[in-house]
Amino acid sequence: MRIRTQSARSGFTLIEIMIVVAIIGMLMAIAVPNIAKAGKTARRNACMANIKNIESVIEQYKLEQRTAPASLGVLVSAGYFKTEPTCPEGGTYTISPEDGEVTCSIPAHSSSAITTTDGAGQ
Ligand SMILES: [Zn+2]
Repeated sequence: MRIRTQSARSGFTLIEIMIVVAIIGMLMAIAVPNIAKAGKTARRNACMANIKNIESVIEQYKLEQRTAPASLGVLVSAGYFKTEPTCPEGGTYTISPEDGEVTCSIPAHSSSAITTTDGAGQ
C-alpha cells in the first residue's frame, strides 16, 4: 500500500512531459516569427525616421547655402550632422540632386514602398 502511493507520486509520466513539450513547441512556433518581424519593422521605421530627418536637414541646408548638398558627407562637414546617419539594416542613403529627396538602398525603406513580405502594411 505504501509503496503503491509513492510510485504513483514519483513524478510526471512520459505522456505528460511530451504534452508539455508539444505545447511549448507550439507557443515557440507562434512567437518566434512575430518577434523576428517586429525587429524588422522597428529597423524599417527607424530608417524611415532617418530619411525624414535627413530631408528636413537638407531643406535647412538649401535655405542657408542656396544649393543642394551633394552627399551626406557634405552635411556632416558643414556641421548639420555630428555623424552620418546610417540605415539600421546596412542600406546606404542617396540624395536626389533634383528635389533633395532621400532614398535608402533597401527598397522597402522608402516611404512610398508597399511591403510585399507580409501584406500587413505599417
Ligand atoms: Zn534603410
